[in-house]
Amino acid sequence: MLAAYITHQDCVKHEMGSDHPECPERIGAIHDLLLVKGMLDYMDCQQAPLATEQQLGRAHSLLYVHELAALSPQSGHIHIDPDTLMNPHTYTAALRAAGAAVLATDMVLGGKAPVAFCNVRPPGHHAERAAAGGFCFFNNAVVGMRHALDEHGLERVALVDFDVHHGNGSEDILFDDPRVLMCSTFEKGIYPFCGSNPRGPNMINVGLPSRSGRDAFRAAVETHWLPALEAFKPQMVFISAGFDGHRDDYMGNIGLLEADYAWVTQQIVQVAQRHAKGRIVSCLEGGYELSPLARSVLAHIRVLTGVD
Ligand SMILES: [Zn+2]
Repeated sequence: MLAAYITHQDCVKHEMGSDHPECPERIGAIHDLLLVKGMLDYMDCQQAPLATEQQLGRAHSLLYVHELAALSPQSGHIHIDPDTLMNPHTYTAALRAAGAAVLATDMVLGGKAPVAFCNVRPPGHHAERAAAGGFCFFNNAVVGMRHALDEHGLERVALVDFDVHHGNGSEDILFDDPRVLMCSTFEKGIYPFCGSNPRGPNMINVGLPSRSGRDAFRAAVETHWLPALEAFKPQMVFISAGFDGHRDDYMGNIGLLEADYAWVTQQIVQVAQRHAKGRIVSCLEGGYELSPLARSVLAHIRVLTGVD
């Protein structure tokens, strides 16, 4: 059984201006490296469906979903916040990105794939229940998690988020849901300027000082994430997989390398194998320097799939 790889060309049509770091080329950079390394030969490549209103409504208010649809421009761009813009293709791309997480969940829980990676944009973890922001519109991973809980009847699902920015959107939606454990590391003092005071007991937020380095990241995972995950015993694990903590990515200053993404993925795989029958859905979040992004995703997927 092959790991699932889910993407869609609609995700490339969304763009927020020629100088914007969250650029369409991110999808192709990842896809091309996976292709030339032969990794896609070992993955079941699927087209992302459009998320339905019912699926989105498990993570977002329907009023927000309708407002976003109404804001969608006929041409040009409209600003949602200073850094988050919609073009005529954004809304459809956002539906595909969330739909990818739903399909990934269905495939993994339906026994059609052991794990899944969603190569999609816009990313999701800054999208709150009723607000876009930070390049995000719908919270893809959380839409997938709520699908696992509400549609498939799982009782405990974990979200791990190693993006260099705090997943404030995921926390906003999940902090009062006892069926969920969220474990997050992030750089303190940068966007979205929160996370150090967790909003609920199910939030394991570890803020790392700027330039704290690889050892501090690994220590945070070992000291804070792993004991909480062991105690929670998730039946499935979702990953908000952001790679902007890479040393060569100018968005953050944590200083991670490909080996660190492989290492943290291995820790997550071990938790999933002990408690969740190995079931993992990973959704792309940040990562803006194309070459380190693609190399880091390759390292992540090699561990996720067990294919060298
Ligand atoms: Zn980020």
